[in-house]
Formats: sequence, structure tokens, C-alpha cells
Amino acid sequence: PVVLGIESSCDETGAGLVRDGHLLGHAVASSMDEHARFGGVVPEIAARAHVHSFTPVVREALDRAGLRMGDIGAVAVTTGPGLSGALQVGLAGAKTLAFSLGVPLYGVHHLAGHVAADTLEHGPLPDPCMVLIVSGGHTSLLLVRDLARDPILHLGDTIDDAAGECFDKVARVFGLPYPGGPAIDRTARQGDPDAVAFPRPLTGPRDPRYDFSFSGLKTAAARWAEQHRLRDEELPLADGAASLQEAVADVLTRKAVAACREHGVGTLVVVGGVAANSRVRALAEERCRAAGIALRVPPLKLCTDNGAMIAAVGDLLVRAGAEPTPLDVSIDPSAPLEYAALHPVARA
Ligand code: ATP
Ligand code: MG
Ligand code: FE
Repeated sequence: PVVLGIESSCDETGAGLVRDGHLLGHAVASSMDEHARFGGVVPEIAARAHVHSFTPVVREALDRAGLRMGDIGAVAVTTGPGLSGALQVGLAGAKTLAFSLGVPLYGVHHLAGHVAADTLEHGPLPDPCMVLIVSGGHTSLLLVRDLARDPILHLGDTIDDAAGECFDKVARVFGLPYPGGPAIDRTARQGDPDAVAFPRPLTGPRDPRYDFSFSGLKTAAARWAEQHRLRDEELPLADGAASLQEAVADVLTRKAVAACREHGVGTLVVVGGVAANSRVRALAEERCRAAGIALRVPPLKLCTDNGAMIAAVGDLLVRAGAEPTPLDVSIDPSAPLEYAALHPVARA
């Protein structure tokens, strides 16, 4: 069947249509610009924007796929984690569609969606694979087996800020526009990545191997900017951005490749908004090639939040014969990542 995926956990309203692992069409509306003057996502504004965008986005995804409402055979929806009000809008819409069309509903974990995004471009994920999720809210290393059936093994996480959050906050200090990640990436192009010796947090021999920390890096970047300002010097922004980006990319890829090696895993998948970063991509390629590890990174459009990735998880669940999620399901804003689905398929 055709699976409609709905995503509304943060500031993107996404709808995507997937059948048998193939993306038929998707659409995304973002309220990013409405949050820009606040320097971060305002939950109330995000929720209201989802109410506004839900129907047009579903309509547009259907149009792009050349499908009609009646072609939808199942609905998958993000139930968490994310902003409570934002999640509720998507879930209410998804329930209404499933109920009125008489098709099953599948509650999906947002991060599993990020993982599954890559299957739409590169086909089924090998079992096992290592996944580095790097986004505005998460920095995690996961050992993934069968998304529809197996628990996801959480190897490590950030102990403070997420990598995307670090980019966003430093960009603000540097006076770059929101969202900061793409702005840092652009600015870094003219800079020298070795200009500033920013720290490489949690990479010492006694540090946890798979955990991350980015708040110290953020502070170091702020202090560097402050020192220039105190001396009334113009900020060498390009050098600062390039050096910060280098430090983040270095730590992320070093730990991800080590995790692959230590667990004997031959494939690394890098997903989430920060996977769009040009230096993260380049360094991951270089280090994976040197270590004989296959690297998979979804195309930019599927890296950031979208409905297609949620549909991809729903499609895997449908094909694995998963139990649908009851229509009285609620959102879970801080859902732990144990399984991709609220109702995974039992292992025989
Ligand atoms: P989560 O998925 O954890 O709930 P989110 O929805 O904010 O969080 P995404 O939409 O996946 O995350 O990604 C947004 C983040 O990606 C932002 O922090 C943004 O700055 C960052 N980002 C996007 N493009 C780039 C880039 N080229 N370089 C660095 N960071 C980037
Ligand atoms: Mg977002
Ligand atoms: Fe996300």
C-alpha cells in the first residue's frame, strides 16, 4: 500500500508518500522564518503554523506523487520526541485521516525517521549498521539492526548541547543569521580550519568513547569572539567558522568511525540536519574510505525534518506485518529511542 507519512515535531510540517521503499512524492512547509527574530523555535508559533500548513502540505505531497486521497493505504506519524503542541497537531491530523479513510495508523519515533530517510535514496539499510544522528536537538550514535523488529542500541549521546545547537548558538554570537548551521557552513568556505585551535571535547583516553559534548566548544568560540571585540579588532569570521566546523566535524567523524571499528560494523549512515554540513560530509568520506567503511548520507532535502522519512518507517512496518497503533494513542514529547515504532513487530 501507499503509506502517507506525517511529520510535525518541530518547525517543519512534512507529508510524504512511500510505497515499497520508493518515495512517490513529498512536501515540506517550514515556519523557520517566523522564529528567526526570536533566535530559536517558539513552540506556540510552531504549533499554529502546523495547523495552517497541514492540509496544504498533504495536498501538495499527493499532487507531486500524482495520487489521490483514496490511494492512501496507511498513515504513519511522528508521535515523539518533539514539541508537545507541534506533535499534537500532526497526530490529530494523521488520526483524522486514518479514521476517515479506514486505514491503519502507525506511530513512529522521530529519530527512526531520520535513520530511515536514507533508504529512500540508497535502498534498504544493511543489518547491522552504525548511525550517527546529528541534528538541532540530537547527537547520537546508534547501532541499528532491523528497524521494524529490533531494538535500537544507543551507544552514545551528547551530554549537553547537540551539534546543530552548537552551530546555531555560535552563529548567533558571530552575528550570523538563523539558522546558524548553514550560515557557518557558507562563511567557513573562505576560512582557514586551522586558524583557531578549538578544543576536541571528550576525545581523551579516559573520556566516554561514544558520548559527545559541545557546550565547551560553544563557550570557547564565544570567548574567542569576545577577545577580538575587547581589542576592537574585526572578527575574522571565516576563520572562526571554519575552525569551529572543523572541530565539530573532527569529533563527530572520529567517534563514529571508531564505533564502527570497535563493533565490527561495515556501514556508517550519517543523518539529521547537520549531515548537510559540507565539512562533516567530506571528513566522513575521507575517514570511512581510509577505514574501509561504506558511508551513506541521504540527500540534503531528506536530511532535515520531512514527512517522507516518517512514511519510510511506516512502509517498513507495513511490509513487516506490524500491529497498527490504536487511534487513542497520545504524543510522547520525550519518547526514548528504544524501537523505531510504537508497536514493533515481535521477533519470532
Ligand atoms: P531534531 O531532529 O533533533 O528534533 P531539528 O528538527 O532541529 O532537531 P533538523 O531539522 O534535522 O533538526 O536539523 C536542523 C539543524 O541542522 C539546525 O541546527 C541547523 O543549524 C543544522 N544544519 C542545517 N544545515 C546545516 C549545515 N550545512 N551545516 C551545519 N548545520 C546545519
Ligand atoms: Mg527543523
Ligand atoms: Fe529532526
